Amino acid sequence: MKILFTASECVPFVKTGGLADVVGALGPVLAGQGHDVRVILPLYSAIAQKWQEKMEYLLDFEVQLGWRRQYCGVQTLKKDGVTYYFLDNKYYFGRPYIYGLGGDEYERYGFFCRAALNLLPLINYAPDVLHAHDWQSGMIPALLKIQYAHLPFYANIRTMYTIHNLQYQGIFGIKEVQDVLGLGDGLWTSDKLECYGCANFMKAALVYADAITTVSPSYAEEITTAYYGERLDGLIRARRESVFGVLNGIDIVDYDPEKDPMIVKNYTVETIEDKVQNKLAIQEALGLEVNAAIPLIAMVGRLSNQKGLDLVDHVLGDIMAENVQLVVLGMGEARYTNLFSWAEQQYRGKMAARFAMDHELAHRLYASADFFLMPSQFEPCGLSQMMSLRYGTVPIVRETGGLRDTVLSYNEYTKEGNGFTFLNYNAHDMLHVIKRALSYYKDQPEVITELRIRGMKGDYSWTHSAGEYVKLYEQIAVK
Ligand code: ADP
Repeated sequence: MKILFTASECVPFVKTGGLADVVGALGPVLAGQGHDVRVILPLYSAIAQKWQEKMEYLLDFEVQLGWRRQYCGVQTLKKDGVTYYFLDNKYYFGRPYIYGLGGDEYERYGFFCRAALNLLPLINYAPDVLHAHDWQSGMIPALLKIQYAHLPFYANIRTMYTIHNLQYQGIFGIKEVQDVLGLGDGLWTSDKLECYGCANFMKAALVYADAITTVSPSYAEEITTAYYGERLDGLIRARRESVFGVLNGIDIVDYDPEKDPMIVKNYTVETIEDKVQNKLAIQEALGLEVNAAIPLIAMVGRLSNQKGLDLVDHVLGDIMAENVQLVVLGMGEARYTNLFSWAEQQYRGKMAARFAMDHELAHRLYASADFFLMPSQFEPCGLSQMMSLRYGTVPIVRETGGLRDTVLSYNEYTKEGNGFTFLNYNAHDMLHVIKRALSYYKDQPEVITELRIRGMKGDYSWTHSAGEYVKLYEQIAVK
């Protein structure tokens, strides 16, 4: 099949979160199965020079955006069987940030959506399925149906839309979006593009895409409720028949404790006792007490309220009162960087915090920690807990979304499970399971070893999920 992804980030070129991992890993897997896979991305100036140097100029064209005519260059490169197209416009993407600060996100990604569709005839590529990801690509399914589908070239293109995080919807003024994309007044009713008085890129996709997926079966279920639905639950319920949950995988080559070049000591299930060498090294590197016997808890991720950091804030003193070390790696909201900077001073030698996008440190933490804490308020899928499992680091998570689908709490009677979990969004429930995990670490280390091994033996590859996507592509594609 001919499968086209459109997304705002993709490893190894540009990443702020799990979306990049998914797009970057799924494409090559599908290409490996013989599909013609292509990916359209913005050419951000943040893309590393070494990749920019590998790109080749393909063509350029002008994109009409209301009264504007904007240049769009196209750079291309082929990697792991996938063809990537980078849309080049310095005004929109040559900025020092990827998302956010300019107040004109609707115009930047309006340009992206329009240019992606206009590019297709120029490269003579009409995909069977155009698979758009997250709000930045949300207008593509809508524009395609409203403005392009009557043209023979586009008539047989079907669309799939994947929600990686329903919280980020791309909400703007209707007038502003009309000014860029020229969508007539008649389209701004609540059954089409209007959403609580605004334009909403994600809603546009949810109305017009042929199929909708999200990144775990539990999250697919949860977003039909008001608690998780971010005000789009009514629409998602209405489209229930077309909404599917497909669990993400991780890149098992990149995240492989046996071969990972970024970690201090490689290990396997057979040599699991070597894992502790990584802990000793990270304790040293981060200024923690160097002691193999102290359990190390790691957190890696965006510092946003989604990740359950308010729970950690609430009982941080109780956690640190235990014989434990805590390391936090993340970037995000000031209230959390302030909290963890303070904690680092307050609990010297027991707590370390690093606020950077540091892939090497992330790998080293997955390899060195004993436990990985992820008490998310909601979690569409979550990759970090799977990375932890793969490195024999035992996850402690809240039972929500993809966490619920990947981590099963240890059951002391049946001996089943691969981690520790709690259900309610409650700080003391979290504290209780942390203490439970620590008590196994101290009194029954053989249980922790068993959980580590079970984690490392799990299958987190894309093989199964890629097959599910292909089945869905086949369902919607024109026969
Ligand atoms: P989300 O997509 O909500 O950010 P996921 O768990 O799905 O969360 O994916 C997060 C990915 O980003 C993981 O690969 C994680 O290791 C990585 N990551 C997040 N923050 C950082 C950071 N500060 N440094 C390095 N890697 C990070």
